[in-house]
Amino acid sequence: MQKSCFLSVVVPMYNEEEVIEVTYRRLKAVLDQLGETYEIVFVNDGSRDRTADIVRRLCAADRSVKLVEFSRNFGHQIAVTAGMDHSGGRTVVLIDADLQDPPELIADMVARWREGYDVVYGKRIERKGESWFKKLTASMFYRLLRSMTSVNIPVDTGDFRLMDRKVCDALTSMRERSRFIRGMVSWAGFKQTSVDYVREERFAGETKYPLRKMIRLSLDAMTSFSTKPLKIASVLGFVLSAVGFVYLFVVLYQHFFTESTTQGWTSLIAISLLFHGITLSLLGVLGEYIGRTYEEAKGRPLYLVAEAINFSEEAEASRLPGHRDAEKIGVGTLI
Ligand code: UDP
Ligand code: MG
Repeated sequence: MQKSCFLSVVVPMYNEEEVIEVTYRRLKAVLDQLGETYEIVFVNDGSRDRTADIVRRLCAADRSVKLVEFSRNFGHQIAVTAGMDHSGGRTVVLIDADLQDPPELIADMVARWREGYDVVYGKRIERKGESWFKKLTASMFYRLLRSMTSVNIPVDTGDFRLMDRKVCDALTSMRERSRFIRGMVSWAGFKQTSVDYVREERFAGETKYPLRKMIRLSLDAMTSFSTKPLKIASVLGFVLSAVGFVYLFVVLYQHFFTESTTQGWTSLIAISLLFHGITLSLLGVLGEYIGRTYEEAKGRPLYLVAEAINFSEEAEASRLPGHRDAEKIGVGTLI
């Protein structure tokens, strides 16, 4: 794709009416300072508040602001992907809308990119204003994921990062549905480095990542980057069979050679419940993989765009080659 500017900033938004204008102003201040051409690609992920209206107003006043409007809520990772699909910069920055990731860090990221790095990711050395539960589960998740996969996914990093165009293109060429972008960036390789930052409190509003979405993202990450959970079933099955086999000998010995045959079914029920529990949870693990395989097999587009504002005609035409044609179709034209 023709590079349309030096830097593209991709901002996914879901019900961010309270912050989005301030985010725009802070981003603009930083980007103007850089002295390079830029675009800000806002992706509205089916917000039900005034987010889209506010960004539409910004688009009318400032041509460097662009809006990709989804037909409904498709999720954060998909929204980021759509922003990358629509971006035309030599470098691309992914940043949350809520100012938890400081826009001022972009200048440092660009400096590292100029040194020859292809990916510069923000590493959170401190997380402010987040509950101990979120911090604990996040920390456990990053470490568990690391122990389960052969892809070297750095701990304590979010999606806040700068990428070279070639990394961005590599990522957008992967059309998998269960997306865990920071893992995909690690998988892609290239020259990577980090800059440290303190993750601030959300500027306004509340988190759009409730526990349900967090669990989903974690499962997507695990299943996309590891098949170890599947192997647990065989290891556990083997260990339990071995224990059962030994116990069988103990019971037979007691029956034939001693007077103390164990009575009662309480213990039997307990063991039976335990084993059924294990079997069912392992079936659940299988289900997670099979369900995702099924979703991928359907091959649906990742998202549908209802409207795209401030993109030039050529950029639109060259945006998505071949197999991604479906994503070009606005919902209006589908009917
Ligand atoms: N977001 C989104 N779609 C969603 C949920 C969140 O585009 O379904 C956006 C949200 O507007 C924000 C970013 O993703 O810009 C991160 O969300 P949030 O700040 O609520 O997550 P947290 O920082 O609490 O983990
Ligand atoms: Mg946030």
